[in-house]
Amino acid sequence: MSVSLARDGDTGPPVDVGGFLDSLSGQACALDPEGTVVMVNREWNRFAEENGYADKNHGLGLNYLEICGRAAGEANDHADRLGVALKEVLNGDRESFLHAYPCHSPTENRWFQCQVTRLPVSQEGEEFLVLIQHVNISEPIRQLHQRTNELQLVNDAMQQFVVAVSHDLRAPLREMTGFGDLARQRYGHLLPETGQEYLGHIVDGGKRMRSLLDGLLSYVRATEIQEEPQPCDLNEILDEVTEDLEHVLAMHNVALQVGDLPAVNGYPGMLKLLFKNLIENAVKYRSEAPPHITVSARDAEEGVTFEVVDNGIGISPDYAKQAFRMFQRFHRADEIPGIGIGLALCRKIVEVHRGKIWFKPNEGRGSTFAFTIG
Ligand code: ADP
Repeated sequence: MSVSLARDGDTGPPVDVGGFLDSLSGQACALDPEGTVVMVNREWNRFAEENGYADKNHGLGLNYLEICGRAAGEANDHADRLGVALKEVLNGDRESFLHAYPCHSPTENRWFQCQVTRLPVSQEGEEFLVLIQHVNISEPIRQLHQRTNELQLVNDAMQQFVVAVSHDLRAPLREMTGFGDLARQRYGHLLPETGQEYLGHIVDGGKRMRSLLDGLLSYVRATEIQEEPQPCDLNEILDEVTEDLEHVLAMHNVALQVGDLPAVNGYPGMLKLLFKNLIENAVKYRSEAPPHITVSARDAEEGVTFEVVDNGIGISPDYAKQAFRMFQRFHRADEIPGIGIGLALCRKIVEVHRGKIWFKPNEGRGSTFAFTIG
């Protein structure tokens, strides 16, 4: 079949669709505007034969939507979604789409990518054809799985290492701070003032190291994935966070306003920690103004964006990258206590949920911490 491709109202020289389909490496076919298979390529026939269909040009004359419908009837979610997307292309609601799906044979775990394109043509009676090609992507998928497994192993080993080190360092640290305290109480008076000061630094350093190790452990534990992601009602999660922080919020007279939040797919424990950390920071880094915090969600280009807005002391945009790194702080521990794990943990949680997190200074005062999920 030769057709002329139509572009912006112009038609080009005739193109041999059969020759073009045969030049493709995947199983390919052309559909008419009704979705009927009007042409199949060589690879399509080879694949059909290999999979037990003896007739030549198997599928020719059948309606592709019906083929998808039949497969969907066999509880194949992929065929169902393919059918829906194909209908949109046939209706002119979209130009093209890609869909990866498993198609395992008795001997092989196979994955294919279905590439669908609407092609405007000028042949009489045919305003357009839809070209479909199924490309075997089993090898890249296998490599991806292998790489993911390797990374998972490295990640697990790192986590175990952190847990072991934090655990093993506890005992000597406990001795150091315990005996340091004892020495201060019993023999501190025998030391000159500077000696007492030095001893104090040793003990305080040991205690701080202990809280850093605790922070590191909680970071690792909080982001361990032990369950499947599930639908999470963020309004319920925010109710729990507010309840947990009731005392802190009341103590600092915080006005916390929570908007209507959507449900998301994720890990409820982590999401709770994410909101809790951001609200706690908004309280901790408050200014002299009565703390006012709002939590909301809005539709944005990059998807639903959640925002925690405060009227606190604010944070310079120069720290945009560092702020989310482990142990990064922009205040001395004796001014405002902390160990610099909170925002790193927030970033990890957001990344586990395939989102992004950032902050920006507010126009008046304070800052806005924003993130996306999925
Ligand atoms: P920590 O609070 O223990 O220092 P975080 O990782 O939570 O650790 O925060 C890192 C740094 O980012 C803080 O030391 C602080 O300087 C800054 N910061 C975090 N949240 C806010 C906020 N809401 N307003 C102003 N500064 C903030």
